[in-house]
Amino acid sequence: MQKYIPYGRQDISEADINAVVEVLRSDLLTQGPVVPAFEQAVAHKVDARHAIAVNSATSALHIACLALGLGQGDWLWTTPNTFVASANCARYCGANVDFVDIDSQTWNLSVPALAAKLQHHRNEGKPLPKVLVPVHFSGQPTEQEKIWELAQEFGFKVLEDASHGIGASSSGEPVGSCRWSAITVFSFHPVKIITSGEGGMALTNDEELACKMSILRMHGITRELSRLEREASGPWYYEQQTLGFNYRMTDLQAALGLSQLDRLEKYVIRRNQLATRYDELLKDLSLQQPTIQPDNRSSFHLYVVRLPTRENPNKHRQVFEALRQAGIGVNLHYMPVHLQPDYCRLGFSEGMFPEAEAYGKEAISLPLFPKLTEDQQDCVVNHLQKLIND
Ligand SMILES: *Cc1c(COP(=O)(O)O)cnc(C)c1O
Repeated sequence: MQKYIPYGRQDISEADINAVVEVLRSDLLTQGPVVPAFEQAVAHKVDARHAIAVNSATSALHIACLALGLGQGDWLWTTPNTFVASANCARYCGANVDFVDIDSQTWNLSVPALAAKLQHHRNEGKPLPKVLVPVHFSGQPTEQEKIWELAQEFGFKVLEDASHGIGASSSGEPVGSCRWSAITVFSFHPVKIITSGEGGMALTNDEELACKMSILRMHGITRELSRLEREASGPWYYEQQTLGFNYRMTDLQAALGLSQLDRLEKYVIRRNQLATRYDELLKDLSLQQPTIQPDNRSSFHLYVVRLPTRENPNKHRQVFEALRQAGIGVNLHYMPVHLQPDYCRLGFSEGMFPEAEAYGKEAISLPLFPKLTEDQQDCVVNHLQKLIND
């Protein structure tokens, strides 16, 4: 009856298509006027002063780390319950990575675990992080104010990975405003809340960081007269002042992103409606459902449930395989990053972050995207129900 139901899917409107076609017919496919228009629109939407658009959130994390001065010998701490990019960005800069275990209810980085680890490192004379990357997992904001207080006490910078979190807020403060952080990063990959095909953005209220990141995304080059180290020798003049990259977003991508941004609020409302409906439909099954903290509005990038697997450790895999077989695109967000082979080679192993590891053995992301129908949702729920009661 139903075709394959993916776990996430973009929603492309005629307006989106027209916006991209308009750029195709214009003079500039890249480095034109649409990228700055998209940057300003996002900055305005989330109440941040500066925005730097790049070709992915991964690139945004990389240049954010560089702008924050992360380098050889430094440490970046993040959560193991994330996509690998949140940790890899440190290694691009030659820095080291460590993790902080997650909260068993929100599945975000645990603030008490962070506080304890910081204190332990201080007491033992072990290195403290230069940068902390909290991830607004599934779209639920982390406890930014508490993290910021620890940042003051222990002297680290906060870089928010809000790849899941555009449209979310905490006590009315939009994710991305950087009120309690140095930089916030968004992703516009097609499975995320809004898309530009591929794309990312770094938000900040600090002009110096904004300037550093915009130079880094463009080979380390600037043409801005006020920023030149030497006197311009002619109208052709530009300077490479540091080693940067080509991380630019194209105007085609920005046009899609800008057009999608118009529907951000609608998307987040729809995602919340569907999440509430899952909450209700699944409430009598023995599952752990998402816990949204009272002051938080989640953007609900993901709807994750946890299967109790104590009696049957194979249950997770069985349910996964059966749902996939039934054409339901469930997924695991995330296998703990520290257990990836490339991280095990750095010395990480099973047992180091038990909450994240237990979570990884139980979690299932159910399909959730704006155009998911109630019939499709019922189909997911019915299959899950049967499998759990088996
Ligand atoms: C998707 C994602 C990224 C990477 O985003 P790209 O735009 O694909 O580079 C980074 N962190 C998290 C938490 C993500 O979900």
